[in-house]
Amino acid sequence: METLIMRGKAVAELLEKEMTEKIENAKKNGKEVCLAVVTVGEDEPSHVYKNRLIKIAERMGAKTKVVELPKETKQEEVEAVIEELNNDLAITGILPMMPMPKHINGDAVGAKVDRNKDVDCLNPLNAGELYMGKSRWAPCTPRACMATLKHYGIELSGKHVVVVGRSNVVGKPVALLLLQENATVTICHSRTENLQELIKTADVVVAAVGRANFVTSDMVKEGVVIVDVGINFENGKLVGDVSADVSEKASAFTPVPGGIGVVSNVMVMDLLARNL
Ligand code: NAP
Repeated sequence: METLIMRGKAVAELLEKEMTEKIENAKKNGKEVCLAVVTVGEDEPSHVYKNRLIKIAERMGAKTKVVELPKETKQEEVEAVIEELNNDLAITGILPMMPMPKHINGDAVGAKVDRNKDVDCLNPLNAGELYMGKSRWAPCTPRACMATLKHYGIELSGKHVVVVGRSNVVGKPVALLLLQENATVTICHSRTENLQELIKTADVVVAAVGRANFVTSDMVKEGVVIVDVGINFENGKLVGDVSADVSEKASAFTPVPGGIGVVSNVMVMDLLARNL
């Protein structure tokens, strides 16, 4: 059995091409897109991610605005910045970078984002529509998972998908998107009692745990499809939530690095391009 490596680059390049064309065409009609990224404090990964997103947005022909607030900024001040961006007609997408410093309620900041500029689906109205199966909208990483599975022709209808992780940003929304594609979805988390047995029955495993090499070869069935969302650093090396030897049993898998993360970065521009 030949194993399919579902590389993110091929998916990201296609998406980027489509979005760039849309953005460039809209410009000819006098319409511009502008992504605003808001950071609070000095969380290093957030700043690395922000710089990467700005580069991608500009490569696609979009304008960008970065608002960097000091770590002692108060809740109401952060929310006021979001309001200002909501009311600024030149801004078409807003991304407050998470996590925010401990004294800031990130959920409350996300709830302030205008639902039409809500790049990462932080506004509860958008999340609610997703729950109702009505939304074409979802956070970036779950959409990246779905776009990757679609690109590589993975059949989901009627398949048993085990999602490991139930965060609001990955696990829960990806489970809802999978359900929309008629998969039978099991969501697992840190209190799941029979995790190993459940994973063993999965046709597709989506790992969003945040633990290096959490899913091991003995836990999966032969021919499984693996979507590895994890980003972990182990001995200075970037590794996923799924151990490398699982690829020997898998029929298809997303590598780390070079898998979902690459697609996820491009997805940040998706709402802006769709709204044109
Ligand atoms: P998170 O908020 O920390 O959620 C982790 C989830 O895993 C929780 O639901 C937790 O269960 C569950 N979990 C933890 N230990 C477990 C265990 N021993 N057994 C079963 N479940 C367990 O993380 P996240 O934000 O969803 O991110 C997950 C991973 O994806 C991280 O590595 C993150 O860096 C990565 N990520 C990647 C991208 C990308 O673009 N590729 C984007 C976002 C995140 P409880 O709910 O019970 O605590």
